[in-house]
Amino acid sequence: MIDKLARRKIFSGQTVTRGIQKEFAEHKEDAHALVKGRIDFFNKIYGFRFEHICIKNQKTRWGSCSRKGNLNFNYRIVFLPPRLTDYIVVHELCHLEQFNHSEKFWCLVANVFPDYRALRRELRQKKIG
Ligand SMILES: [Zn+2]
Repeated sequence: MIDKLARRKIFSGQTVTRGIQKEFAEHKEDAHALVKGRIDFFNKIYGFRFEHICIKNQKTRWGSCSRKGNLNFNYRIVFLPPRLTDYIVVHELCHLEQFNHSEKFWCLVANVFPDYRALRRELRQKKIG
């Protein structure tokens, strides 16, 4: 038996999901344009090869890089301060060259962001969703 409270919870859960889907649809293109622009900018420095840029609706990550060279970003990136957007873009770009979080990887990131540690910390404090 579903009591009133449980029913209300299910209902609000559906509302939240629907709200997020709507938000995703509304911001997907903006996120893509933003990310594409920043990748073009930073990749002038790095000159890495990549395949596709994909905007996703994920709950746990801001970005990822696949072995095939596809770059994925969370649409919520549009809500972040520009320095954090740039950090995420640079971070994923550097994974094209170093598919790990080795010292070499962080050296690549540090070319653009010598203070990447502070940005990383700041980003960790941001909740997704
Ligand atoms: Zn990483």
